[in-house]
Amino acid sequence: MANEKTFSIIKPNATLDNNIGNIISIFEKNDLRVSAAKFAQLSKEKAEGFYIEHKDRPFFGELVDFMTSGPVLLMVLEGDNAVTKNRELMGATNPAEAAEGTIRKLYAKSIGENAVHGSDSAQSAEREISYFFEKNEIVDRF
Ligand code: ADP
Ligand code: MG
Repeated sequence: MANEKTFSIIKPNATLDNNIGNIISIFEKNDLRVSAAKFAQLSKEKAEGFYIEHKDRPFFGELVDFMTSGPVLLMVLEGDNAVTKNRELMGATNPAEAAEGTIRKLYAKSIGENAVHGSDSAQSAEREISYFFEKNEIVDRF
């Protein structure tokens, strides 16, 4: 398997519940390494631009309100098959459908307040990483 990078956000419900360490611990136990990280309070414009693919969905306004409601931890994760591995560790979008032991099963409150974001493809990862990080803010871990 190839080493790759993916993009992750620990969302406001999880930062407010003090689950940052618990979530990063799941990544590290599964051989993903943090290559970049910054804590941020997103503006409405930044959150809207990030989720632009969902702009016509009925939940778009609610999603942007939630993502700007508190601090988020923005991260680049690196490891073997990182995009797919991160999505597996996250679990299904709706925590009611997420497998036991997944981040969303453990730490999501609802389908909207679902603890984490993770890129859904290598192409999304590239766009999302460059949306938040400069090249010189990312350190290779492998
Ligand atoms: P994922 O984050 O699993 O890739 P999507 O890309 O489909 O899921 O949706 C982006 C985010 O929008 C979700 O993580 C969740 O926070 C929110 N969302 C998705 N579907 C709904 C919904 N039906 N109601 C409210 N919020 C939703
Ligand atoms: Mg998605």
